[in-house]
Amino acid sequence: MYAFVLRRSNLRENDQLVSLYTWEKGKIDTLVRGVKKITSKNSAYLEPVFLIEAEIIPGKEINHLTKAVPFFCYKNILKDLEKITLLRTAFSWLSVLTHNNQRDSKVFLLIKHWLEFLDGTDKISTALGYSFLANLVAEFGFMPSLDNCAVCDDKNNLIGFYPSGGGVICRRCLLIKKQQDIKVYPIRLVDLQALKWLFSKQWNKVAEQNTEIANRLVFLYAQYHSEKKLVKILTFN
Ligand SMILES: [Zn+2]
Repeated sequence: MYAFVLRRSNLRENDQLVSLYTWEKGKIDTLVRGVKKITSKNSAYLEPVFLIEAEIIPGKEINHLTKAVPFFCYKNILKDLEKITLLRTAFSWLSVLTHNNQRDSKVFLLIKHWLEFLDGTDKISTALGYSFLANLVAEFGFMPSLDNCAVCDDKNNLIGFYPSGGGVICRRCLLIKKQQDIKVYPIRLVDLQALKWLFSKQWNKVAEQNTEIANRLVFLYAQYHSEKKLVKILTFN
């Protein structure tokens, strides 16, 4: 199976539980025996910067990973602390937001294309990380309304974002929601434009976005609709 390595955790003396995101089966948990022994051939490639070909033997209770061969190494990510931070955060979101044994080729390709960009680019920003999150929740069916008011469908005077309502909100509806004590967030035109980029997969454009507000709104939106506690990206400077 082709797989990204999401997470490793210690189990017994020499064994580890390794969570993978595979092309064939989506997220799966595997047991790797003897992975911590210095002679283990698998250990070196069970890292998030590798796309691996994994040999997996299904077990009664758990799958056994018996062999991991590197298919591709995103080696530039490995050299850059900011890139690694983005990668680790993105993989933690994947761990939390996906379910075991649910194949989703779009999610697999999202990971692959995003890692390819991250590997090749000189332009790094936290927006790149939040854009991964935005596209992930969009794949799960939560694409916010960004061109029309999520409440009344108006195209004009879009001056706020309404995470629980599912998108941008116009001036009139924002005032009503505020009176009802519902959480709505004012946005500027530049934030709205950045939000649109963050939900696109045009990573080159995404990397240039630097509105904290758009990043924060993506995070709030993803957290609200997934009903999961997500970690934030540690800021770089
Ligand atoms: Zn409205």
